[in-house]
Amino acid sequence: MKIKKLMRLYFCVTVLFFSVDAFAAEATPSLPTPDIKANGQDGPITVLSGTPVSITASLEPGNESGKLADWWLACSSPVGWYSLNSNGWTPGINLLTQYPLFSVSPVEIYSASLSAGDYAFYFLVYMNPNAIVDSPYYYDFVQVHVAPDPLVLARVEVPGKLQYLNLPVHAGLVDGSGVYYALVIATRTQLNAAGVTYRVIDECPPDTDYLLASSGNPDDYGEAAKVVNVLYDDGHWIIVRDIGTVDEILADIGFDLKLMSDEPITRVSTGVDAAQMEATPAKLPSVSEMIGKVKQEAVNTYISQLSGESQVTVEGEPYTIKNRHTDSGTPIQKATQYILDKLKGMKGMTVSTHDWTGKERKESNIIHKGSNIIGELKGKEKSSEIIIMIAHLDSINKFDESYEGGKAAPGADDNASGCAALLAAAEIMSNYSFQSTIRFIFTTGEEQGTRGSMAYVKEVKGQNIVAVLNLDMIAYSTSGLTPPTQHVKTRHIDDLGNLKDMIIANLYKDVVTLYGLDSSLNVVIKQDSDVNGDQSSFWDKTVFLDKTIPAVWVIEDDYSNFNKDNMHTVDDRLKTLNMPYCTAQVKATLATVAHLAGSTSASGPYPLNVMSSQEL
Ligand SMILES: [Zn+2]
Repeated sequence: MKIKKLMRLYFCVTVLFFSVDAFAAEATPSLPTPDIKANGQDGPITVLSGTPVSITASLEPGNESGKLADWWLACSSPVGWYSLNSNGWTPGINLLTQYPLFSVSPVEIYSASLSAGDYAFYFLVYMNPNAIVDSPYYYDFVQVHVAPDPLVLARVEVPGKLQYLNLPVHAGLVDGSGVYYALVIATRTQLNAAGVTYRVIDECPPDTDYLLASSGNPDDYGEAAKVVNVLYDDGHWIIVRDIGTVDEILADIGFDLKLMSDEPITRVSTGVDAAQMEATPAKLPSVSEMIGKVKQEAVNTYISQLSGESQVTVEGEPYTIKNRHTDSGTPIQKATQYILDKLKGMKGMTVSTHDWTGKERKESNIIHKGSNIIGELKGKEKSSEIIIMIAHLDSINKFDESYEGGKAAPGADDNASGCAALLAAAEIMSNYSFQSTIRFIFTTGEEQGTRGSMAYVKEVKGQNIVAVLNLDMIAYSTSGLTPPTQHVKTRHIDDLGNLKDMIIANLYKDVVTLYGLDSSLNVVIKQDSDVNGDQSSFWDKTVFLDKTIPAVWVIEDDYSNFNKDNMHTVDDRLKTLNMPYCTAQVKATLATVAHLAGSTSASGPYPLNVMSSQEL
């Protein structure tokens, strides 16, 4: 995007330049002057991790104007070199472009927060246009020191359930205006990532406890402010550091005192009606109606057709999809066309194809090609906010590599089940309106290392994707438990992105209870950063830096170690599946997505869109 802007500028400016030059008298000789700034300054600058940084570059070509040169925009970061090229910021030192020098007004080349560490952004022009780093050259650089973030005590507004905050909550309080809020001890980065509205009360010194004090006598508050350091007064509670004899002083004035929990709590423990905090997302009639339309027979039919148990009609011809291996040629093309045809038949669905090419794995040179299929229902009010349901269409039979005419790779559980879920949900949801845009994405190349989704995220980088639910293997359960366990996988708790994923995972869990699906599913959240599914492409820090996307993996239980005996063999067939279990997950995912996207008969989207929070 940024590069295109630069190019447009190039054409305007060169035209202007040459016309001026033609009439210019002898110009004073001058050298090319690249300039690069951080937050408008030449630097070095220091910012907190989590605070957005804007890097701009400009160029005065001087008397080298119009001469062909190599252009480089690079950054040395704590995780190595990055450079800007037509794919955005990518690892390594790569040429931006080879173009004649021209005058460039300041253009923003980076705008996001950075993790803690030292960075230097470089803008270089090399007059020897040979795409290697040599002389003569002209350059400028700016240093950015990103400081780690200290712990702060903050007041955090609570839009839903307290646990949705996914922050270390130390108290839940009701202020003098009757508004409930949480006291959180966390870094600003954590607070920003949680997408909450907050205000900082105190920078926490090590080993400090806080006292919460309230009194029935309004005059006591004024008295307290005269004799102790009141950090915050919410109209009902005052907050002070518990140091020296402050507790005795406040007690003498007439305050009731509570020591704020020094360990995070998950529930309210002080001065608040717990029921008030437990406000669940409201049940929506439109969502109940949609859930009622999810039929096991329909899901069963889709799995049957995709896994070659029954014939399909593709482009007017009967066909049996025995194999969906990414490299299988005709079979995967037929399967892809089948999805395309189905989506095209749905009301209001915009259908597109995304072709990709990718290497198998880093150490391999095998090149795979494939197509992802995308169906989109455009949001009515917040169409730039995108909720994604994703499932991989491709299958694999590791015991037979002859894809066509050889043994089948039915992949009924892995992953006709997820694709059937998307088709069933899309068919129903296409008859409803949503505030946000919903995309149904069918990938290929997943079995070669999530190749299709990795290519896709690069394609859509910069779009406002607010939530991703990956459905991959949702139909095998032989535990015999009632109800059977089902997993929602998020990033590990040590990963900052965990906070984002947990909002979706918790909502999924709540929706299951809200719509009575808890008699069919026992949802267990697994914070294990499992990167073997397509959702992990949205967690990729090399693509998104620290602006990774909230994404979870909806998957069956692991009592059989994920269908170990059948997975990736000719035996992964419909007859082995637990269809009521699968259908319940289709309902739960549809309902979660409907809440995220804001079914328009409802009051509004679930408050995921508060991701861009600010400090009060
Ligand atoms: Zn799979």
